[in-house]
Amino acid sequence: MKTPISLIIDDSAPLVQVYYKHIEPPFTQDGRPILENIPNDFLFRFCDTVEKYGIRGKFSVVPNPGCYGNICESVGGFSREVLREWIDTVNSRLSGYFSFCPEILTHHLTLDLKTGKYLSETEREWSVHATEEEMTDYIAYALEIDRDAGIRCTGVTSPWDFGVHNEKNYVLGVAGAFDRVFGQKKSWYFLHEIVGEKNIRPWVEYDEGGRTVVSIPYTVGDGFWQSIDRDDDSDEYVRFIADGYISEDGKSGTIVKALDDGCFPILCTHWQSMFSNGNRVGVRALGEVAKRIENTLSDRVEWVDFDRQAELAIADGIKRPAFQIR
Ligand SMILES: [Zn+2]
Repeated sequence: MKTPISLIIDDSAPLVQVYYKHIEPPFTQDGRPILENIPNDFLFRFCDTVEKYGIRGKFSVVPNPGCYGNICESVGGFSREVLREWIDTVNSRLSGYFSFCPEILTHHLTLDLKTGKYLSETEREWSVHATEEEMTDYIAYALEIDRDAGIRCTGVTSPWDFGVHNEKNYVLGVAGAFDRVFGQKKSWYFLHEIVGEKNIRPWVEYDEGGRTVVSIPYTVGDGFWQSIDRDDDSDEYVRFIADGYISEDGKSGTIVKALDDGCFPILCTHWQSMFSNGNRVGVRALGEVAKRIENTLSDRVEWVDFDRQAELAIADGIKRPAFQIR
């Protein structure tokens, strides 16, 4: 059997760039303003690359991105037609390739579900002390918004390292929320980064009372991110970024290293890394990486989405690594 390989897209949301809210002041390292929005034609460009190479993995849809509004209603002041176009495109062009998930609710401030007002705490801060019940309600609400907007989620992504200091309640919340909203007993979440270890693959984190939750870590870091902070859209730069992942001959790079270490190569990247603050170098470099994988590793790896990753972990009864993970 070939080794499963997957791509993680974090922070993706209709029209607004959540990253804009994460960097203060909102400027690139070389002093350009961070763009607040990502237009739909960029999504089309991303879909072209995914379809061309058959890339698979998971794709976040943040339900209330950056507190700019609920994606069922309106986001960032854009018209319903433009918002609808984004969601319909994700469904029609990406659903065969990616498993979908919320990245909790806002990837920014925590929404108080009782008052409808934002707390001063970020979701990351809130996650440290949330009870199992609060986690379940919050995750369920995120799943419902995506569902009502037309996006069927099968797992959850942590904004930042949401839940890392309270993982038991987080995982119970994931299990409970999927059962409540969809009657779904199996789910997955993405939280952990495990780079440089041997034989890492997704594992069964929770399996009780008929509910199973799989933890899917990333094993290859975000080499596309650098394109946000450098104003360079040359072919040389695209190839330079791709080289970090996989050389043209397929013999070196972070993907090849993970594979040689016995890991499932699970590549983490971000919507802002693909967009490169408007230069779109990241998505070009992704195409170059996928082309090199196709040319040199097609006998060793096979693209799979996160539902498949979870199925494999359950079928093989994989356990959490014994060492301390982040
Ligand atoms: Zn994120």
